[in-house]
Amino acid sequence: MRPQTCIACQEAITNPICPECLEREIEAWLVEKKPYIVPYLYGLSDNFMRSWVTVCIICGNRMGVCGHCYTKDILDVLRRKAPELEEQFLLMFNFQIDKS
Ligand SMILES: [Zn+2]
Ligand SMILES: [Zn+2]
Repeated sequence: MRPQTCIACQEAITNPICPECLEREIEAWLVEKKPYIVPYLYGLSDNFMRSWVTVCIICGNRMGVCGHCYTKDILDVLRRKAPELEEQFLLMFNFQIDKS
């Protein structure tokens, strides 16, 4: 059996939650804080849904990247648009970012 590794960073995907599910969680959080940033999140997950190695434990979507790689892209957007939210984001979604 092929190991389920992230197509971006090659790390094992231990807790497969697809970018679309993460996007929903992050969006719910961001809508309260900075709703104008939400549109920038759209499309980021699409880039990650093209290839797949495993399926999401929440929705069953096929997925190919770990949460770390996806949230890193979100973090890039936050750093550009609302750097004051970076620390809070890391606290909230830390469980994805530190699993590498
Ligand atoms: Zn990765
Ligand atoms: Zn999902």
